[in-house]
Amino acid sequence: MNLVIENLTKTYSNKVKAIDNLSLTIGKGMFGLLGPNGAGKSSLMRTIATLQAPDSGSIIFNEIDVLKDQLSLRKILGYLPQSFGVYPKMSAEELLNYFALLKGVSNKTERDKLVNELLDITNLQDVKKKYVEGYSGGMKQRFGIAQLLLNNPKLIIVDEPTAGLDPAERQRFLNVLREVGTNCTVIFSTHIVDDVKELCNDMAILNGGRILKHIKPVDATNEIKNKIWTKTVTREELEKAEIDFNILSSNYNVDNTLTIRVYSEEKPSKDFKKVEPQLDDVYFIALKEDQNSNS
Ligand code: ADP
Repeated sequence: MNLVIENLTKTYSNKVKAIDNLSLTIGKGMFGLLGPNGAGKSSLMRTIATLQAPDSGSIIFNEIDVLKDQLSLRKILGYLPQSFGVYPKMSAEELLNYFALLKGVSNKTERDKLVNELLDITNLQDVKKKYVEGYSGGMKQRFGIAQLLLNNPKLIIVDEPTAGLDPAERQRFLNVLREVGTNCTVIFSTHIVDDVKELCNDMAILNGGRILKHIKPVDATNEIKNKIWTKTVTREELEKAEIDFNILSSNYNVDNTLTIRVYSEEKPSKDFKKVEPQLDDVYFIALKEDQNSNS
């Protein structure tokens, strides 16, 4: 169950090159596509979902040549865009029932069973009688998942589903995805490193339409083991520290000092302490190295 993308390029009419000669192979399971706003995540996902054509390159999913045979891909695709349309005044249960009917599940008992399963998976049983229109953002996202599962998709694409969700809703949504992602390929885009850390068995960091790094989250942190250092500085000291050290991130403490995280092969100076690397460090290193190579 492999998605193989080769030399993909997409330029919009305003000359923005949103995908830049990108090659990437994605296997079964949860794949996190991590990148800042404007990195090209949505552009890549829309292109894989056959909603827009690239300038060049190829996308193959199993035996399907996605760019030539869009219909075959759409049959096994579940796509959840960043935001989606308005709903009629119907409950989640009624709507799912209706979509199942449209999909050709004509037997009522079979349909009820299917809808019930989907409400279970997406944790919407308690609110199944409520209009979807009145759902919170997180509930709507979970309903979106229930809807796309009707297709029994082999490839699921979810575009920044946790953006704007409160922490509890975000956690519920990630739990739903975790369950869904066990037997198909799920591509999940986000700018939140923790989403990837909690959920994905494989990931890529994207910026400027290019893959900066493709690595398993566990390997990514192992790679920089013994190379992440911290130190507490005052606000006044920060400016000098920024010149002296390769600072990845800085966080304020309650006493208004800052803890800086530095990437270095060697101990940067004697007052630094070695710490366990985090996935955030991996992300910041990739973006920083990209910035340096472009300047
Ligand atoms: P992300 O999803 O990572 O935030 P996008 O794929 O939305 O990134 O955007 C990548 C780049 O392409 C950005 O510079 C954005 O402004 C541009 N872009 C996205 N969609 C369009 C479009 N329809 N027309 C023109 N430019 C676009």
